[in-house]
Amino acid sequence: MRPLYLHGVSTLVLDPEKCLGCGSCLPVCPHQILYLANGRIACSERDACMECGACAMNCPVGAVAVEAGVGCAAAVLASAFRRGESGCC
Ligand code: SF4
Ligand code: SF4
Repeated sequence: MRPLYLHGVSTLVLDPEKCLGCGSCLPVCPHQILYLANGRIACSERDACMECGACAMNCPVGAVAVEAGVGCAAAVLASAFRRGESGCC
């Protein structure tokens, strides 16, 4: 089961209109939440995005944007408040 981070705060933004359907962003996602729907980028679970930035770095046309690093920090803080539940990575 994928870890979920804070609800609704991921900075991940997809632009299916720009997407070429090349698939370069799919295998680099550590949580495998990206997929192609009718040849365009889609996401199965935004709250599972750890904002690593790998997808955005691999997209040749800027169809994926994310503020890298924010999700990990938020997950560590959330984990600390939950005392002992797993956090980022
Ligand atoms: S930022 Fe990282 S975790 Fe989030 S969708 Fe992109 S590759 Fe996956
Ligand atoms: S790398 Fe960019 S163009 Fe290629 S499938 Fe992913 S979002 Fe679409």
